[in-house]
Amino acid sequence: MRERERERERELLLLRSTFASSSMGALLLPLPLLSFLLFVAFVRSPSFVCGADSSSSDDDTSITPIPRDLYRSSDVLLHEIKALVARHSDSLNMESVRAGSKGYLAEVVVVTYNRVKKHISDKVKFRILMSFGQHGRELITSEVAFRLLSVLTEEHIIPGTEPTTFQNMLDNLVIKVVPMENLNGRKLVEAGDLCERRNGRGVDLNRNWSVDWGKKEKDYDPYEENPGTAPFSEPEAEIMRKLSLSFDPHIWVNVHSGMEALFMPYDHKNTTPSGVAGRLMRSILEDLNHRHFQDKCLVGSGGGSVGYFAHGTTTDYMHDVAKVPMSFTFEIYGNLSASSKDCFRMFNPVDKITFDSVINKWCMAFLTLFQEGPDKLNDARLRVSTLSDERALNGAIDPRFMEDNRGRMRMEVLELGMRELRTYFRLFMLSTILLMFMFCSRISKTKNRQQLTSLFTPQKQDHRKQEQFRYDYF
Ligand SMILES: [Zn+2]
Repeated sequence: MRERERERERELLLLRSTFASSSMGALLLPLPLLSFLLFVAFVRSPSFVCGADSSSSDDDTSITPIPRDLYRSSDVLLHEIKALVARHSDSLNMESVRAGSKGYLAEVVVVTYNRVKKHISDKVKFRILMSFGQHGRELITSEVAFRLLSVLTEEHIIPGTEPTTFQNMLDNLVIKVVPMENLNGRKLVEAGDLCERRNGRGVDLNRNWSVDWGKKEKDYDPYEENPGTAPFSEPEAEIMRKLSLSFDPHIWVNVHSGMEALFMPYDHKNTTPSGVAGRLMRSILEDLNHRHFQDKCLVGSGGGSVGYFAHGTTTDYMHDVAKVPMSFTFEIYGNLSASSKDCFRMFNPVDKITFDSVINKWCMAFLTLFQEGPDKLNDARLRVSTLSDERALNGAIDPRFMEDNRGRMRMEVLELGMRELRTYFRLFMLSTILLMFMFCSRISKTKNRQQLTSLFTPQKQDHRKQEQFRYDYF
C-alpha cells in the first residue's frame, strides 16, 4: 500500500467518522455545539477498516525500529522454514528459484504443502498459490506465512481451534507458499531503509506485470510505483509468472499490509469481473469478512476501493491472463494513525498482543478460505449457464468433477480457431462489398459516358465505345 493511499484512507476514515457522529445530531444541535463535536470527531476518529490499529504513536516524529523480539531477520526466517520443511518432509518440500537480468540477481523460495495420500492423485487436487512479502517493508506478512506453514503441519495450534477441524480438507489441497517474494527489498529494510517497498533495484514488483502495464495516472508516484523498463523486467516477477502458469492455481492470494482489506480484481479500473466469476469471488470475501472481521473490512475491487488505480498488478494478471478463478489481494494490517515517516509502525504491529492477534486472525481466515474455496467453486460451476461465465471458470477444476485442465486448453484452442474464422469471414465480406462498390461505380461511369457520347456521336460509334468499355472490365 502506498503512503499517499494511506493519507487518503486516513482522510476518508476521518470524514466517515465525522459524518457518522454528526449526521443524526445535526438536526437537533445548535451550530456551536455541532462544530465542537465535529472538531472532537476529527481529533479522535476511530478506525473503521477491519479493526485496524489506530492507536497513535507516542511521538509523531519518532521512527520505530524493527522490534527484533517479534520479527525474525530474513536469514533466520529462511533457516527456520528450512528446518520446518525438514521436520515434515512427508507434507512439505521447498525449492529455491533463482533468476537474473542485467547483473541483478533474485531468489524466490517456494514451499509446497502436499500431504501425499495414495488414494488421491495430485492431479485432481485443489491448488492454492500465495505470496507474502512482495513489498519489502511489510514484514508482518512473512511472519503470517511462517505461522500458516506451522499450523498446516500441526506444529502450532491456533488458540480456540480444534487441530482436527481442518485436517480432512487438507488432504485435497496442494498449497504453494512464497514466504518472501521480495528478498532483496526486504534486506534493504532490514539494513535500515524502513520505508522501502520496491525490489533490490527500485522497481515495484506489484506494477511489473503485463495487464495495463506502465499506464500512469495523474497522481502516479514515480518513486514508489516504478513499473520497471517492461512487463516482467524484474526476475522476481518473472519467477512468479512462470510459477503461476505451471502450477495453474484455483486460488491466488497476494498478501500485503498497510491497511486491512479483502480485494478482488480489478486494480486498474473501478469495476469487478462480471458474471459468475465476480459473484463467486465477492461471496467468498464477504463470507470471510463476516466470519473473521465483523464485516469491517473493505471488500471489492482494488481500483474501486483504494481511491486510485494501480496498473500492472499481479492480481489483475492472475485473473485476466493466468485465468485463476479466485484471485485476491489481502491487506492484513495497517496503523492508520502512525506518522507517514514511521514506516515500520504503519505497516507492521509493534506490540506482542497485536502481533499475535493479527497472525492468528489471518491464519484462521486462510484456513476458512481453503475450506470454503473448493465448495464455493463447485457450486458456482454447477450454476454456470452462459458460455462467457463458463470460460471465466474453466480454470476451476474440482477433484470430484474434473480430471485435469486439458478441457480448458481444448476450449481455448477452439475459441481461438473460431475467432480466426470470424476474422476471415469479416475480411471476405469487406472485400466483397468493396468489389461490388467498384463494379457499380464503373457501371455508372460507363452509363454517363454513353449518355455524353450519344449526344455528340452517331449511333454506330456508340456501339464501338460500349464494346470497348466491356472489354475494360473483363
Ligand atoms: Zn504492499
